[in-house]
Amino acid sequence: MIWIDGVLVSRGEGGVYGERMLGNARVWDPYRSKLGALCYKRKRIELAPDMRVLYLGAAHGTTVSHVADYVGVVYAVEVAPRPMQDLLEVSRRRKNVVPIMADAAQPEAYASLVEEVDLLYQDVAQPDQAAIALRNSVFLKSGGTLILMLKTRSIDVRREPEAVLDETKAELEDRGFEIMASEWLEPYHHDHAAVICRKG
Ligand code: SAM
Repeated sequence: MIWIDGVLVSRGEGGVYGERMLGNARVWDPYRSKLGALCYKRKRIELAPDMRVLYLGAAHGTTVSHVADYVGVVYAVEVAPRPMQDLLEVSRRRKNVVPIMADAAQPEAYASLVEEVDLLYQDVAQPDQAAIALRNSVFLKSGGTLILMLKTRSIDVRREPEAVLDETKAELEDRGFEIMASEWLEPYHHDHAAVICRKG
Protein backbone atom coordinates (compact mmCIF):
# COMPACT_ATOMS: atom_id res chain seq x y z
CA MET A 1 0.00 0.00 0.00
CA ILE A 2 1.14 3.55 -0.57
CA TRP A 3 1.65 5.72 2.51
CA ILE A 4 2.70 9.37 2.37
CA ASP A 5 3.86 10.64 5.77
CA GLY A 6 1.61 8.11 7.51
CA VAL A 7 -1.41 8.88 5.29
CA LEU A 8 -2.89 6.07 3.22
CA VAL A 9 -3.39 7.06 -0.42
CA SER A 10 -4.09 5.54 -3.82
CA ARG A 11 -2.94 6.88 -7.15
CA GLY A 12 -5.77 7.71 -9.55
CA GLU A 13 -8.15 10.37 -10.73
CA GLY A 14 -9.68 12.27 -7.80
CA GLY A 15 -13.12 13.75 -7.26
CA VAL A 16 -14.96 10.50 -6.47
CA TYR A 17 -16.27 11.46 -3.02
CA GLY A 18 -14.67 14.80 -2.32
CA GLU A 19 -11.49 13.11 -1.14
CA ARG A 20 -8.43 15.19 -0.37
CA MET A 21 -5.46 15.04 -2.74
CA LEU A 22 -1.79 14.89 -1.80
CA GLY A 23 -0.14 15.81 -5.07
CA ASN A 24 -1.55 13.26 -7.55
CA ALA A 25 -2.48 10.82 -4.79
CA ARG A 26 -5.97 10.39 -3.37
CA VAL A 27 -6.25 10.31 0.41
CA TRP A 28 -8.07 7.13 1.45
CA ASP A 29 -10.30 8.15 4.36
CA PRO A 30 -10.51 5.40 7.02
CA TYR A 31 -13.73 6.94 8.38
CA ARG A 32 -15.41 6.60 4.98
CA SER A 33 -14.01 3.19 4.09
CA LYS A 34 -13.79 0.04 6.22
CA LEU A 35 -10.97 -1.30 4.09
CA GLY A 36 -9.14 2.00 4.59
CA ALA A 37 -9.69 1.60 8.34
CA LEU A 38 -8.38 -1.97 8.23
CA CYS A 39 -5.21 -0.81 6.48
CA TYR A 40 -4.57 1.67 9.30
CA LYS A 41 -5.16 -0.97 11.96
CA ARG A 42 -3.25 -3.71 10.22
CA LYS A 43 -0.38 -2.55 8.11
CA ARG A 44 0.12 -5.91 6.38
CA ILE A 45 -2.85 -5.58 4.00
CA GLU A 46 -1.59 -5.48 0.41
CA LEU A 47 -3.25 -4.90 -2.96
CA ALA A 48 -1.29 -5.40 -6.19
CA PRO A 49 -1.70 -4.72 -9.93
CA ASP A 50 -1.96 -8.42 -10.83
CA MET A 51 -4.94 -9.00 -8.52
CA ARG A 52 -8.56 -9.60 -9.47
CA VAL A 53 -11.11 -8.64 -6.81
CA LEU A 54 -14.77 -9.53 -6.32
CA TYR A 55 -16.28 -6.75 -4.23
CA LEU A 56 -19.73 -7.36 -2.67
CA GLY A 57 -21.65 -4.32 -1.40
CA ALA A 58 -19.99 -1.74 -3.65
CA ALA A 59 -22.45 1.05 -2.71
CA HIS A 60 -21.41 4.39 -4.24
CA GLY A 61 -17.99 3.08 -5.21
CA THR A 62 -16.03 4.97 -2.55
CA THR A 63 -13.83 2.05 -1.50
CA VAL A 64 -14.13 0.38 -4.92
CA SER A 65 -12.47 3.41 -6.51
CA HIS A 66 -9.44 3.13 -4.21
CA VAL A 67 -9.18 -0.63 -4.69
CA ALA A 68 -9.33 -0.09 -8.47
CA ASP A 69 -6.39 2.31 -8.23
CA TYR A 70 -4.28 -0.59 -6.93
CA VAL A 71 -5.49 -3.78 -8.63
CA GLY A 72 -6.05 -5.16 -12.13
CA VAL A 73 -9.83 -5.57 -12.09
CA VAL A 74 -12.68 -5.12 -9.61
CA TYR A 75 -16.01 -6.88 -10.11
CA ALA A 76 -18.27 -4.60 -8.07
CA VAL A 77 -21.64 -6.01 -7.01
CA GLU A 78 -24.39 -3.75 -5.65
CA VAL A 79 -28.10 -4.46 -5.25
CA ALA A 80 -29.58 -1.00 -4.63
CA PRO A 81 -30.41 1.21 -7.63
CA ARG A 82 -29.46 4.60 -6.14
CA PRO A 83 -25.87 3.88 -5.12
CA MET A 84 -25.57 1.98 -8.40
CA GLN A 85 -25.87 5.30 -10.26
CA ASP A 86 -22.72 6.58 -8.55
CA LEU A 87 -20.99 3.25 -9.04
CA LEU A 88 -21.68 3.49 -12.77
CA GLU A 89 -20.03 6.91 -12.80
CA VAL A 90 -16.98 5.43 -11.05
CA SER A 91 -16.84 2.65 -13.66
CA ARG A 92 -17.04 5.20 -16.49
CA ARG A 93 -13.85 6.79 -15.16
CA ARG A 94 -12.09 3.58 -14.12
CA LYS A 95 -12.08 1.04 -16.89
CA ASN A 96 -11.02 -1.76 -14.57
CA VAL A 97 -14.27 -1.57 -12.55
CA VAL A 98 -16.98 -3.95 -13.76
CA PRO A 99 -20.28 -2.83 -12.17
CA ILE A 100 -22.81 -5.59 -11.56
CA MET A 101 -26.30 -4.82 -10.29
CA ALA A 102 -27.30 -7.99 -8.50
CA ASP A 103 -28.10 -9.58 -5.17
CA ALA A 104 -24.88 -11.03 -3.78
CA ALA A 105 -26.95 -13.76 -2.11
CA GLN A 106 -27.58 -15.12 -5.60
CA PRO A 107 -24.16 -15.35 -7.22
CA GLU A 108 -25.48 -17.62 -10.01
CA ALA A 109 -26.90 -14.41 -11.56
CA TYR A 110 -23.40 -13.06 -12.29
CA ALA A 111 -21.38 -16.26 -12.56
CA SER A 112 -20.94 -15.74 -16.30
CA LEU A 113 -19.44 -12.26 -15.77
CA VAL A 114 -16.87 -12.97 -13.09
CA GLU A 115 -13.47 -14.66 -13.49
CA GLU A 116 -11.62 -16.45 -10.72
CA VAL A 117 -10.47 -13.84 -8.19
CA ASP A 118 -7.54 -13.46 -5.77
CA LEU A 119 -9.52 -11.46 -3.23
CA LEU A 120 -13.15 -11.68 -2.20
CA TYR A 121 -14.15 -8.56 -0.28
CA GLN A 122 -17.57 -8.24 1.33
CA ASP A 123 -19.30 -5.33 3.06
CA VAL A 124 -23.05 -5.96 2.85
CA ALA A 125 -24.46 -5.49 6.39
CA GLN A 126 -26.98 -8.32 6.13
CA PRO A 127 -28.14 -10.93 8.70
CA ASP A 128 -26.60 -13.78 6.66
CA GLN A 129 -23.17 -12.26 5.96
CA ALA A 130 -21.16 -15.46 6.35
CA ALA A 131 -23.56 -17.41 4.13
CA ILE A 132 -23.30 -14.78 1.38
CA ALA A 133 -19.49 -14.86 1.55
CA LEU A 134 -19.47 -18.66 1.41
CA ARG A 135 -21.76 -18.72 -1.62
CA ASN A 136 -19.45 -16.31 -3.42
CA SER A 137 -16.32 -18.20 -2.45
CA VAL A 138 -16.82 -20.34 -5.57
CA PHE A 139 -15.19 -17.42 -7.41
CA LEU A 140 -12.20 -17.31 -5.06
CA LYS A 141 -9.11 -19.21 -6.10
CA SER A 142 -7.65 -21.80 -3.79
CA GLY A 143 -5.26 -20.00 -1.43
CA GLY A 144 -7.07 -16.71 -2.14
CA THR A 145 -8.10 -14.23 0.54
CA LEU A 146 -11.54 -13.42 1.90
CA ILE A 147 -11.95 -10.15 3.78
CA LEU A 148 -15.35 -10.10 5.43
CA MET A 149 -16.44 -6.81 6.97
CA LEU A 150 -18.77 -8.06 9.65
CA LYS A 151 -21.47 -5.76 10.99
CA THR A 152 -22.36 -7.67 14.12
CA ARG A 153 -25.53 -5.65 14.82
CA SER A 154 -27.00 -6.68 11.48
CA ILE A 155 -26.68 -10.33 12.52
CA ASP A 156 -28.12 -10.05 16.03
CA VAL A 157 -28.39 -6.75 17.88
CA ARG A 158 -29.12 -8.51 21.22
CA ARG A 159 -25.93 -10.56 21.34
CA GLU A 160 -22.44 -9.55 22.34
CA PRO A 161 -20.49 -8.47 19.23
CA GLU A 162 -17.60 -10.71 20.28
CA ALA A 163 -19.88 -13.78 20.37
CA VAL A 164 -21.22 -12.98 16.89
CA LEU A 165 -17.66 -12.64 15.62
CA ASP A 166 -16.62 -15.98 17.17
CA GLU A 167 -19.63 -17.74 15.66
CA THR A 168 -18.89 -16.29 12.22
CA LYS A 169 -15.26 -17.40 12.40
CA ALA A 170 -16.33 -20.92 13.38
CA GLU A 171 -18.77 -21.02 10.44
CA LEU A 172 -16.02 -20.03 8.01
CA GLU A 173 -13.58 -22.54 9.52
CA ASP A 174 -16.17 -25.31 9.24
CA ARG A 175 -16.34 -24.59 5.52
CA GLY A 176 -12.58 -24.89 5.02
CA PHE A 177 -11.37 -21.32 5.52
CA GLU A 178 -8.28 -20.69 7.60
CA ILE A 179 -8.76 -17.63 9.81
CA MET A 180 -5.66 -15.46 9.46
CA ALA A 181 -6.80 -12.58 11.68
CA SER A 182 -9.74 -10.58 12.88
CA GLU A 183 -9.75 -6.93 13.79
CA TRP A 184 -12.33 -4.57 15.31
CA LEU A 185 -12.46 -1.36 13.33
CA GLU A 186 -12.74 1.03 16.29
CA PRO A 187 -12.38 4.02 16.37
CA TYR A 188 -13.22 4.36 12.68
CA HIS A 189 -16.32 2.14 12.48
CA HIS A 190 -18.32 0.91 15.49
CA ASP A 191 -19.51 -2.69 15.87
CA HIS A 192 -17.63 -3.72 12.76
CA ALA A 193 -14.96 -6.38 12.63
CA ALA A 194 -12.84 -7.43 9.69
CA VAL A 195 -12.31 -11.18 9.35
CA ILE A 196 -9.38 -12.06 7.13
CA CYS A 197 -9.15 -15.65 5.98
CA ARG A 198 -7.64 -17.89 3.37
CA LYS A 199 -9.47 -20.40 1.23
CA GLY A 200 -8.03 -23.86 1.69
N1 SAM B 1 -18.38 -1.02 0.76
C1 SAM B 1 -18.92 0.31 0.61
C2 SAM B 1 -17.78 1.31 0.73
O1 SAM B 1 -16.87 1.09 1.53
O2 SAM B 1 -17.76 2.28 -0.03
C3 SAM B 1 -20.02 0.57 1.62
C4 SAM B 1 -21.03 -0.56 1.61
S1 SAM B 1 -22.54 -0.23 2.48
C5 SAM B 1 -22.10 -0.40 4.15
C6 SAM B 1 -23.40 -1.74 2.18
C7 SAM B 1 -23.91 -1.85 0.76
O3 SAM B 1 -24.24 -3.22 0.53
C8 SAM B 1 -25.16 -1.03 0.47
O4 SAM B 1 -24.95 -0.20 -0.65
C9 SAM B 1 -26.22 -2.09 0.16
O5 SAM B 1 -27.16 -1.69 -0.82
C10 SAM B 1 -25.36 -3.24 -0.32
N2 SAM B 1 -25.99 -4.56 -0.17
C11 SAM B 1 -26.71 -5.03 0.87
N3 SAM B 1 -27.14 -6.28 0.65
C12 SAM B 1 -26.66 -6.62 -0.57
C13 SAM B 1 -26.77 -7.79 -1.36
N4 SAM B 1 -27.44 -8.86 -0.91
N5 SAM B 1 -26.17 -7.80 -2.57
C14 SAM B 1 -25.48 -6.72 -3.01
N6 SAM B 1 -25.35 -5.56 -2.30
C15 SAM B 1 -25.93 -5.52 -1.10
